[in-house]
Amino acid sequence: MKDTSYQIEYLKAMNKKLGEQEHIYQLLVQKSEHAFVYYSFENDEVRTLGLYRDFFDFEINSNEELMLFTDIIDRTYTPVLTECIYPERAKNTSIQAEVYDNQKDRWLFFETSLILDKSGNPKEKVLKISDVTFEHNKNDEIAYLAYYDALTGLLNRGYFIRKLADMINTAKEKNDKIALINIDIDEFKRVNDGLGMSIGDEVLIKFGAFLKDLENDRVMISHLSNDIFTIAIYNPVGEYSVEKYRNIILKKLDNPFKVSNGQDVSFTVSMSAALFPDAADSAIDLISCADIVMYKCKSLGKGQFKYFDTNILNEFLSNVELEQQLNNAVLNKSFMVYFQPQYHSETRELRGMEALVRWRDKDKGIISPAVFIPIAEKNGTIIPIGKFVLEESIKQYAEWKEKYKVDFIISINISALQYKKDDFVDSVIEVIEKYKVSPKYVELEITESVLIDDFESVMDKLKRLRQYGVKISLDDFGTGYSSLSYLKKFPIDTLKIDKSFIDTILSDSSTRIITESILDMSHHMGFESIAEGVENEDQYKYLNEIGCDVIQGYYFGKPHPAEEIEKLLH
Ligand code: C2E
Ligand code: CA
Ligand code: CA
Repeated sequence: MKDTSYQIEYLKAMNKKLGEQEHIYQLLVQKSEHAFVYYSFENDEVRTLGLYRDFFDFEINSNEELMLFTDIIDRTYTPVLTECIYPERAKNTSIQAEVYDNQKDRWLFFETSLILDKSGNPKEKVLKISDVTFEHNKNDEIAYLAYYDALTGLLNRGYFIRKLADMINTAKEKNDKIALINIDIDEFKRVNDGLGMSIGDEVLIKFGAFLKDLENDRVMISHLSNDIFTIAIYNPVGEYSVEKYRNIILKKLDNPFKVSNGQDVSFTVSMSAALFPDAADSAIDLISCADIVMYKCKSLGKGQFKYFDTNILNEFLSNVELEQQLNNAVLNKSFMVYFQPQYHSETRELRGMEALVRWRDKDKGIISPAVFIPIAEKNGTIIPIGKFVLEESIKQYAEWKEKYKVDFIISINISALQYKKDDFVDSVIEVIEKYKVSPKYVELEITESVLIDDFESVMDKLKRLRQYGVKISLDDFGTGYSSLSYLKKFPIDTLKIDKSFIDTILSDSSTRIITESILDMSHHMGFESIAEGVENEDQYKYLNEIGCDVIQGYYFGKPHPAEEIEKLLH
């Protein structure tokens, strides 16, 4: 397009146009996708060619009338266009201009070539006009995407960091402060998976639009990534304080977002804040500080808010250290399995054992899974750890069964990440076959988070496992999203009522009502019910009274290493 050589060719052709070959050149031009205007100074003759008639609704009959183009072109482009269509005025032999056609809402590219005679006077000129709307918009879009997030129109991460760096430089000069607030939508995956990606996007767009309205010359907002937004406030005091902005956001979230399918979508957000210059003095570091605080917030649950401080930093650093040690522990196989017995509440007979992993560190001693499982789930080491627990507990179980001829169930905790692996079902079956255990004695404990992540594929795996004969137990029931109706869809055999219910079951009447109705429904659906974390006789008696099938907890026995359990079996 930018190549003008064809125009020279064309000019040559037009020079001969009076000759007998004219129609051939006409055809050539006619076949192109452009509009042409040919003008001869010699006899003030104008000819429009190519797609001219398709491009424009007006005719041009003289050199002066070329001015008609300026009528349809946006006024800002009048000077460049005029210069382009009258190259003879500046004696330029070739000029180009990209202009906007207001009338037809398109971008036009004008290229004009001027042919001079021997004495240097203009002889002829050719204008080639192309529609470049598509290319133009594409360039626009690319330029736009370099700075803004496509979904929300907020500053993207890269541009935000640059602008934050500028803001920090100004603050350094003027001795001012900046607050950075990260906003992370809680369990956004739930929205995406439950309602579909497009609804998820819509929620982000709506929330982003609300945030965009908060922008002003002191407040800058970015869509950092997926479900994370960030706000930078210059001089965060008074009307501009972190608290003020936090409250505006919380208030907004009191009401659900209405999405296009008519549904109301509600969510909470976690927020973390870091201040310049207190926490960090560069844009990247400030964002990292807010990230670290967010990590802490998320570990505490939903809707949290915290400022960066050194305790949080130290905790983060020691987690990083722990993570490294955990990697080593996996390499050195420094894990063992404890077993906690479960008893039928009516008969007090042994119902099963839950396998609970322990990390044995030579310096720190026994480390609780409550500490390292969350890390292992994040960095993926839960896969080898889970594999170890599965094999170790089934092996141990087979040994006991052989030795003591007892009938009880072995319950094994399985993480979401394990279910996600394609070979998960096969690997379970493989271990069961290897130790020749009947699958009906093997129970896998899952949490709802497993289903939220990847509903269809996990359901399929659970069904296959149950078909094979393995039991499925829903762990920590009551802590997640479990609505009773939701339960009907799950292919499960056992429901484990979370310890938090048992903790307050005697002191809080509403907990009692909930627990009783959970048990009611559980019986209705044919699930076996287990109460976890039963620590005393009163709790046990009450649970037995209201029909809880199985009791697990310190009252009947803590988790113990295999040798101790062996004494019990004996
Ligand atoms: P969980 O599956 O809910 O296991 C029950 C936890 O409650 C165990 O903690 C157990 O020791 C504790 N517990 C049982 N009875 C009582 C009681 O009466 N009072 C109190 N205060 N606590 C009681 P533990 O062994 O520290 O395990 C913590 C969590 O770590 C487990 O919670 C489970 O989510 C996870 N976990 C443990 N082993 C594994 C494993 O092999 N794989 C996976 N993926 N997760 C595991
Ligand atoms: Ca469990
Ligand atoms: Ca549990």
